[in-house]
Amino acid sequence: MKTVAHLARRCPPAHLRPQQGETGTQRLQNEEQITLPRTLPVDPPPQREPLIELRSHWLRRAFIATALVLSTTAPVLATNNHGKATDFLLDNGMEVVVIPDHRAPVVTHMVWYNIGSADEQPGKSGIAHFVEHLMFKAATINHAAGEFDRAVAEIGGSHNAFTDYDYTAFYETVAPSALEQMMSFEADRMFNLNLTDDDIKTERDVILEERRSRIDNNPQAVMDEEVDATLWQSQPYRIPVIGWMQELEKLNWNDAVCFYNLYYRPNNAVLVVTGDVEPETVKALAEKTYGKVAAGLGLARIRPVEPEQNTKRTVTLTDARVSVPRFSTQWVVPSYHTAEPGEAEALDLLAEILGGNNRSRLYQQLLVKQGIAAEAGANFGGTMLDATSFTIYGSPRGDAKIADLEAAVDAEIARIVKDGVTDDELDEAKDRQVRSVILARDNPAYMALMYGATLATGGSVNDVEEWPDRIRKVTADQVKGVAGRYLVPDHSTTGYLLPKTEK
Ligand SMILES: [Zn+2]
Repeated sequence: MKTVAHLARRCPPAHLRPQQGETGTQRLQNEEQITLPRTLPVDPPPQREPLIELRSHWLRRAFIATALVLSTTAPVLATNNHGKATDFLLDNGMEVVVIPDHRAPVVTHMVWYNIGSADEQPGKSGIAHFVEHLMFKAATINHAAGEFDRAVAEIGGSHNAFTDYDYTAFYETVAPSALEQMMSFEADRMFNLNLTDDDIKTERDVILEERRSRIDNNPQAVMDEEVDATLWQSQPYRIPVIGWMQELEKLNWNDAVCFYNLYYRPNNAVLVVTGDVEPETVKALAEKTYGKVAAGLGLARIRPVEPEQNTKRTVTLTDARVSVPRFSTQWVVPSYHTAEPGEAEALDLLAEILGGNNRSRLYQQLLVKQGIAAEAGANFGGTMLDATSFTIYGSPRGDAKIADLEAAVDAEIARIVKDGVTDDELDEAKDRQVRSVILARDNPAYMALMYGATLATGGSVNDVEEWPDRIRKVTADQVKGVAGRYLVPDHSTTGYLLPKTEK
């Protein structure tokens, strides 16, 4: 039988830096330590939902991701007695965050790995998402394939996973009494996955089909992929999360095992538990389950730095399947993790003021006043480990052309760069953003997403908790400043998605 422990020696030590005193041999010895009990019978896994790859303001992203992936959420009640987050480290380096909320008898248990598609080795695109799939597909040393799925189904819970550029997360939403069992299963597959060649062959076909159906058969998705590959010249965000087809076809057992061995480690993971549970209980259970998994090597996430953009780049896709033309313009901007203090908050508010809702400037100007757009908006993808993008998009209405929309967008940006934003619109944008966090606090699953995504991209519990205060402190001058500094029309990347018209 192949076990992960026997394979570590075959894996190249890419992307990693040993912690003091640790050697590969010690790691192999450590790998033998955990044995978790066998608990449930075998059954075929239920249908899983697809990977999530969204790039927008972190909270909006959390909301959207939740709506797509979480089928069980707690009802919102009138009381407002949620606890604050408690965080601590296990001895093996695994970070744990607990946010109690006793209004409904449910817990959300999420394990976030600090590993995403942007950490993949060149030529191995899609491996992060592939390994996410294999975590559900393969047996472990202690559990046959499908046992975990069966256990979750039997207790009426739900579970799933998603892969993004900077992280991969697995979650279960269950009754509090099932928390220990979920932790035991997750801790087991963190360490004991037992991949076979057969798992690789069948699941590789699944991800190839996923790529065909979700990207290649969807002109908008093809376009988005090309825009990313053009916007980013050096940063690995240029490579799609799902991977390039010709590289996916070649992913093999050794690639998967090496990736799993390097990155699926407690000291490369964050556990977030929200809902009807107390921190002391989670701590005791975490020590009993995850605490028994040996730490891996310390990993440094060193990535290429994006060069400054000094050109205007365009990408055009004309496709017979497109009925409504669309454009999106993107700029490379700092994320919450890379920005100077206050800058990312100002970009968040700029996106809100420009195109975050139907009171925004672009909506009012392009849809209401000029009537030239069917849609127009802006977003800022703040939750990234490295630099991120600011996007403005739109579709023309009636006889209007994309060029008319672009001229109106440029004029609106120029107005903000010259005159700034008003105190009223800034206050309104702040209120909307802060309110969205208050709303999020009513749902433990949203909370788990917010904390997890922030921690997996270099942030801290304090960053999440102090975010409303930092938003409140942003000045109109700061918003004007980031607009002038980053939204330079001649230093942008625009994608045009156009219908094929008869000549
Ligand atoms: Zn998938």
